[in-house]
Amino acid sequence: MFEKAVLIVGGNKGDRNALLKSAVEAVSELGEMTLRSKVYETEAWGGVAKGPFLNQVVEIKTAYSPFELLAFIQQIETTLGRKRDEHWGDRTMDIDIIFFGDRVIDTPELQVPHPFIAERKFVLVPLAEVLSEFIHPVLGKSSQQMLEECEDKSEVWELEG
Ligand code: AMP
Repeated sequence: MFEKAVLIVGGNKGDRNALLKSAVEAVSELGEMTLRSKVYETEAWGGVAKGPFLNQVVEIKTAYSPFELLAFIQQIETTLGRKRDEHWGDRTMDIDIIFFGDRVIDTPELQVPHPFIAERKFVLVPLAEVLSEFIHPVLGKSSQQMLEECEDKSEVWELEG
């Protein structure tokens, strides 16, 4: 059985464009890529990270289970993080599962829908671009509605080129 998983891919270190491209390419191996947002640049969220992020939302139609998908995206994060950023110790690439069909999963390892979707413009802006009508299975709101109601004041802008 195939299901549609929505992922957000992003990072704020190293060659962000090349890393994002590699990550999206790797994700496309996990299923048929059915949607791909533009690339957005966003202010670092929460005041901990240093530079602006590049983020992109993609949707894949996959035969993998949510936990299998999580294991694969963690492998991709590890591979890309290690390759480009060895001596810093932390990751250059973050991939999160935003939605997995309409499923609701609440375990320590995996929460789907991702718990912070409605609070983060860097997720909602690309999400509303490609899936504006999609209804959050817990909150019962579309991506567009969540974006309109979001109080996150950080800047999110389309990357040129
Ligand atoms: P982060 O540092 O934000 O990438 O968080 C990584 C941790 O979040 C991993 O240990 C995952 O097990 C956990 N996690 C929980 N829910 C999700 C999700 N929807 N997508 C990705 N990672 C998740």
